[in-house]
Amino acid sequence: MARGQQKLQSQQKAAEKAAKVKKQQGHSASEQQKAAQKALQHVCSICRAQMPDPKTYKQHFQNKHPKLDMPDFLKEV
Ligand SMILES: [Zn+2]
Repeated sequence: MARGQQKLQSQQKAAEKAAKVKKQQGHSASEQQKAAQKALQHVCSICRAQMPDPKTYKQHFQNKHPKLDMPDFLKEV
């Protein structure tokens, strides 16, 4: 009997451990998603395309919207 109980306990422990790992993985995944969203915070005001940095935004603006006035903050990039 003792052996059966031990097996049950170890199964429970394993399940707890797996749940904990799953929780941690879910947490870090959402953190990564947040970081990715933060990295793409430059959104083109014309076409809503997302850019990781102002330099890319400036190049995008020059290429895609050459006839439009560039925002002042991009001229300084
Ligand atoms: Zn654009």
